[in-house]
Amino acid sequence: MPFTWLIDSMANNKELRFRKLKKNRLWVSILFLTLFTVIAHALLILFVSYFFFHLIDQKLQNEYDRVAYVARLYEDGKLLSVQGRSDSYLILDANGQILEEHGKDTRADISGYISMSGVEDPVTVYPDREQAFITILDSGIAFVDIPEIYRFLKQDPEESVLLQLLDENKSIDMPVWISVPMDQGRAYVGKANFTVYTKDVIVLLIFAAAMALMIFVILLIMLISIINHFSHQRKLISVFFTDEVTGAHNWMWMLIRGEQMLKKRSNASKNYAILNILFMEYRNFCVCHSIAEGEAMLYKVDRTIANDLRRNEMSAHCSSASFAVLMQYNTQEQLKQRIEELVGRLEKIDRTHRFAYKVGACLLEPERENGKIVRRRHINIEEAYNNACAARDSLPDGEESGIAFFDETLVEEQRWIDSVRERQESALQNEEFVVYYQPKYDPKTHELRGAEALVRWDSKDLGFVPPGRFIPIFEKNGFIPKIDHYMLEHVAADQKRWLDEGLSCVPVSVNISRAHFIESDLAEQILRIVDSVGTPHELIELEVTESAFFDDKKAMIDTINRLKGYGFAVSMDDFGSGYSSLNSLKDMPLDVLKLDAEFFRGNTQDGRGEIVVAEAVKLAKNLHMRTVAEGVEIKEQVDFLAELGCDMIQGYYFAKPMPKDEYVTRLQNKQDENTTNTI
Ligand code: C2E
Ligand code: MG
Ligand code: MG
Repeated sequence: MPFTWLIDSMANNKELRFRKLKKNRLWVSILFLTLFTVIAHALLILFVSYFFFHLIDQKLQNEYDRVAYVARLYEDGKLLSVQGRSDSYLILDANGQILEEHGKDTRADISGYISMSGVEDPVTVYPDREQAFITILDSGIAFVDIPEIYRFLKQDPEESVLLQLLDENKSIDMPVWISVPMDQGRAYVGKANFTVYTKDVIVLLIFAAAMALMIFVILLIMLISIINHFSHQRKLISVFFTDEVTGAHNWMWMLIRGEQMLKKRSNASKNYAILNILFMEYRNFCVCHSIAEGEAMLYKVDRTIANDLRRNEMSAHCSSASFAVLMQYNTQEQLKQRIEELVGRLEKIDRTHRFAYKVGACLLEPERENGKIVRRRHINIEEAYNNACAARDSLPDGEESGIAFFDETLVEEQRWIDSVRERQESALQNEEFVVYYQPKYDPKTHELRGAEALVRWDSKDLGFVPPGRFIPIFEKNGFIPKIDHYMLEHVAADQKRWLDEGLSCVPVSVNISRAHFIESDLAEQILRIVDSVGTPHELIELEVTESAFFDDKKAMIDTINRLKGYGFAVSMDDFGSGYSSLNSLKDMPLDVLKLDAEFFRGNTQDGRGEIVVAEAVKLAKNLHMRTVAEGVEIKEQVDFLAELGCDMIQGYYFAKPMPKDEYVTRLQNKQDENTTNTI
């Protein structure tokens, strides 16, 4: 399709707009928030641990320095009396045997080593038996046992640990045996008191609390902004998908969510149809009542459709009085029945009115690759909906409900309509429209009595096109008055020229379309065209199709009267093909009644057709109208019509529509016959 890329890009644009709206997805924000929380906590633990271990390291180092100092004094023989904190010490030989013992040896059996930032080699330490606040790991590394410190603090059940820690005047002494190497492999092992002052803990706690608070505040701000952002986004998305008239879903919903639904793996094998439901007479209803009442009806329509839907189906109000529906089906027959039932319910949404609906359906069968059903990937809701609309458009005008299914012939038809529309103006300018004449004969004398001008399109691109292929299109797109004028101009000019050439011309009828009759000065337009070439008015007849008589009757009578006043004969075309033509005959001052070709088609064995034709001719006579029988193809019909007193016959029996030259030959023949008869 030539415009598929355009449709695709438009659909993509809408998708893009939605994606933009949905940007910053929730999970990204939550992930970001979680990451931040983890990092912040890790940093907090890292900082607090760093300060904590720095503090411990500092204290251990001080103790080491002190024990090392005492050890040096001992070595130098200057240690006379060891008092206070270093009152307990041991001297060990190279094998770890006690050489000298001073004070009480409460050293644990195991030793480990500890690294201090101010001491080059790892220092050997022993936990204290009475209070082992350091643990020796299997690897030999000595480690500060925080749970043990906690247990120690907890020994006093009266006081809470926190309160003990916060008591500024309190300090906690924890013993540890530090070994300082001496000469000859000996070691001085002194009891050190590792003291934790609670003010240090308070500083640490305050620091940790401040950091925790800061993290908490940042987290809270982030959380609030994320919640705000998403509630705002949710509102925007709901506005984006909400129809302002029905308050339910809109076209964007159908476009985006519908596509998502069809692309689901679980829906791959299901048959879907996209429907376009048009609520007829909506505008009229609004004019007669009010827009608010009209919108209330649209709301009811929307609700009725929504209530009819099943799981995995959806509907939306698209524009004005159009609704889109995605419906599942098994067979086309069953789908049709379901739509008919829905339309039946929709027709009765209001107690005082009965509405009509036109429905177009485009089937979306499962997608297949190498004969296997695959997940739908090439779905284009917009294009499918457009096809459904085109199918609905193909339904005949009128106020009846109807259903039409989209198929390829419709595409062909649309393409044809498009190419006709594209070429119509240039064809008119290039005079591609050709006048054909179909003679009308007297059934008794077989004498040429008149003709009808029928248009043909000799198109450079489309070939030779009969009127049935383009007149209905022109009638719909409003181009038909131009064709009627064109034909009238050419017929008037031809008649005048032939008259000037001395041919005995007969009246030629020109078709005037129903659409043309709306113009109030139509009679004057015709008069101007005919008079501009100087053709006698009695040589021009105007054919008005029967269906036109249902429009503005008063205006129609007025135009006919004026045309008659100017001397033009007016005929009713295709009499018998419409509904209330008899009624129209009563009011219309017409000159000629053209019996529709259908009178002469089909089985006339039982004689009913003949009775109707005979009565129609009689009726015309009584109304002082002449009769022309159209579409007469066989001799029996000609004889029968002659017997009835029908004035003229226009049919293949006598002649098909023919080009101008052939018609001129017939005119000349007629003249020759007349001359012979006169002689
Ligand atoms: P119409 O005005 O009722 O014209 C009579 C149609 O019946 C013509 O078809 C003619 O060829 C056909 N016809 C006549 N006798 C026989 C017969 O014995 N057998 C069969 N099978 N057909 C016969 P055509 O020329 O195809 O025109 C079709 C319709 O197109 C016309 O119906 C008229 O409604 C419209 N049309 C043609 N030319 C014009 C025009 O210039 N202006 C307008 N507005 N409509 C036109
Ligand atoms: Mg006609
Ligand atoms: Mg006709």
